Amino acid sequence: MQLRKPLLSALATCLLGAGLIGNTFAAPNDAETLGKIRDAAMQDDWAYQRLEDLTDLVGPRLSGSPGATAAVEQVADAMRKLGAKVTLQPVKVPHWVRGEEKGEIVDYKGRPANITQKVVLTALGGSGATPATGLTANVIVIRDFDELKARAAEVKGNIVLFDVAFDQAMADRGLAGPAYGRGSSFRTNGPRQAAELGAVAALVRSVGGANFRLPHTGLTVLADGKRIPAAAVSAEDAMLITRLSKRGPVKLKLTMTPQMLPEADSFNVIADLPGTEKPEEVVIVSGHLDSWDLATGAHDDATGVTGAMAVIKTLNQLGLKPRRTIRVVAWMSEENGGAGGNAYHKSNKAALDKQIAAIESDGGAGRSFGFQASVRPQYENCLPRCRNRWCRSAPACSSAAT
Ligand SMILES: [Zn+2]
Repeated sequence: MQLRKPLLSALATCLLGAGLIGNTFAAPNDAETLGKIRDAAMQDDWAYQRLEDLTDLVGPRLSGSPGATAAVEQVADAMRKLGAKVTLQPVKVPHWVRGEEKGEIVDYKGRPANITQKVVLTALGGSGATPATGLTANVIVIRDFDELKARAAEVKGNIVLFDVAFDQAMADRGLAGPAYGRGSSFRTNGPRQAAELGAVAALVRSVGGANFRLPHTGLTVLADGKRIPAAAVSAEDAMLITRLSKRGPVKLKLTMTPQMLPEADSFNVIADLPGTEKPEEVVIVSGHLDSWDLATGAHDDATGVTGAMAVIKTLNQLGLKPRRTIRVVAWMSEENGGAGGNAYHKSNKAALDKQIAAIESDGGAGRSFGFQASVRPQYENCLPRCRNRWCRSAPACSSAAT
């Protein structure tokens, strides 16, 4: 099954290449063992069942939400049942909740009497709120950060719309990740830059190649004190606003009531399969347990988490004992700031040399294009040469020393 492919291929190629499986049951690094791991993972649907549990029984898992708490318990329980040594690492996480969200074009040149137009939008994670009765202002359409700079004097008191189309051609060349990265830089940084120039709200054209008048949420980074309302607008509505603005001023009414609550208590779920020869040395396989609140986060990143969970299941099933400890981590709060990863780094800072490798799958469970890696020079030969387009495009793949 596709969902285990990226993770297992990474595990097979790199971990076994580095001699992590002991020779109790098979000679290290042999093709037969690699094949057994691959076949066992592909034939078993244990990971898929865990994916169903996470998405169907728990659903959305935004940090601080009841879903996130339930997911922690569910994953910890499943890993205990496998016999893994489970630790819940405390993490303080942001607790942002979505409120009402509504957009309406209330005036534009050529507007017939009694006509206003609905704008399909959704608040970005970390967005501030409008007054409860809404906020009405003119829109300034911006195409890139240079234009924002050039038109800085016009921004104050207005709503800035970053109307930047998703680079579908780039995605079609197998570079969906970099295309998404380029698009989401406007979502992440645009509202903050607009707020610094005095914008009363910021909108970004939804990042993604499939346009069904659906807005796609994600994190935006805003400074306290300048936490303006910030939302993603469906591509169709962003294009409409842009077209109307070519005719004359466009006035928009926004009503958004999200709240940033005090930080909440949560956890990284850590499940260890202890190593037989060097148990203090750790190889991480992981995904992030939290998701955005608008859907069940199946691809982002329940497949990463459950694929990682299945590493221990598969090795147990085959009776393979790793030399080093294999540590499954279900990270908390990747989506809104990475608090879980930071907490883990902080708690292991004194002995980072015991963290031998860390693998994370967070690219969905579709066809694998490859993986990106940063490795120390001495481990370079455990990675295959970059052969595909994704890999070639990734500077991190040049095996830079870390
Ligand atoms: Zn993700």
